[in-house]
Amino acid sequence: MKRKISIIGSTGSIGRQALEVIDKLEDKFEIRALTAGANTELLNEQIRKYKPKYAYAKNSSEISGTSLLSLEEICSDKENDIILVAVSGKIGLKPTVTAINNGIDVALANKETLVMAGDIVMPLAKINGVNIIPVDSEHCAIHQCIKDINQVEKLIITASGGPFLNKTVEDMKSATVSEALAHPRWKMGKKITVDSATLMNKGLEVIEAHHLFNMPYDKIDVVVHPQSIVHSAIEYIDGSVIAQVGLPSMHIPIQYAITYPERFVGIKSKSFRFSEIARLDFEVPDYKKFKTLKIAYDCGKIGGSMPICMNAANEEAVFAFLEGKIKLYDIAKIVENMLSRHTPMYNLSLDDIFELDNEIRIKTVEQLNVHA
Ligand code: NDP
Ligand code: MG
Repeated sequence: MKRKISIIGSTGSIGRQALEVIDKLEDKFEIRALTAGANTELLNEQIRKYKPKYAYAKNSSEISGTSLLSLEEICSDKENDIILVAVSGKIGLKPTVTAINNGIDVALANKETLVMAGDIVMPLAKINGVNIIPVDSEHCAIHQCIKDINQVEKLIITASGGPFLNKTVEDMKSATVSEALAHPRWKMGKKITVDSATLMNKGLEVIEAHHLFNMPYDKIDVVVHPQSIVHSAIEYIDGSVIAQVGLPSMHIPIQYAITYPERFVGIKSKSFRFSEIARLDFEVPDYKKFKTLKIAYDCGKIGGSMPICMNAANEEAVFAFLEGKIKLYDIAKIVENMLSRHTPMYNLSLDDIFELDNEIRIKTVEQLNVHA
């Protein structure tokens, strides 16, 4: 029987690659719904090609060829076997929670969901018997390495280091938007690409890993590995280290997540050969240069509302950087400033989280306007 899938964010980097994966596994999937934000032209093309039963876009009047539903309705459609949440930023949280509440498995690309509400989302998934399968390559790697979480001593998350790995703080300070968007290994959406340049992406991933694998922060290490061949690793209590290795391609983790627990030939373009890999380097991250990584660890350890505050301030600061209003290095300063004015709160409901997220964004924008 075909697996019924909806893709939330089918016009984005992950969404488009997911459809390429599905192209190769046509007999395995039926596309239930596709959704876009602003790119209605591409969504209409996708509708013509994949004939989903439903679609959504911010401006629904520009969509033709299928029935329109809200994101909420799409994620409540119990005919879905799996929903791939591939929107960027805070908009991923509601679709994920809706899918979970309806007992639908989630292939989760949107890391901000767990940063904002991991304390709610993971227990909710457990109660509803829902699998959350990570798409993020590091977490997908760890998911593949873990047999028994109780025997794991440590998670080791790799980081490519982004475009400023071998640059100075001065280079980072004068970085243009196009320099920050020139990621050496991965072609991704703009928000995550900027996060990768500041290493906030790795910070978000540490918090994501903490929630996905229920691992304390002092047992999550980050190591810089510029070649992006080792996608992450785990150390067992007996000292054995298991790493997941492969060529850097998001097709593989996307396919893993949407076909889990099965495996198929799919889109794999080339067989992996260790002999073709010239060298593998590993180094400790520079926490002074990449302040956001340290900030994320600190926020994660304090927990409660701190990661929510960090995430909201960061997202607004990234948008401001992309609009040319602030410098790349100001992102960390703005996040730090917002955090210094915030008193941690605990046991928040989803409504509390959305309210706080909104409040922090308003304050961040106010601060950005003062700054500008
Ligand atoms: P993109 O920016 O490329 O895509 C985002 C998607 O969300 C697009 O389909 C976009 O639609 C849609 N969208 C944006 N705003 C709205 C809105 N208001 N309502 C509904 N839909 C909206 O992001 P990526 O694919 O790069 O990233 C998606 C998520 O996956 C992020 O959380 C990221 O951290 C994570 N991730 C991405 C990786 C990658 O390689 N790209 C790797 C690991 C994780 P439209 O374009 O039509 O406006
Ligand atoms: Mg990643």
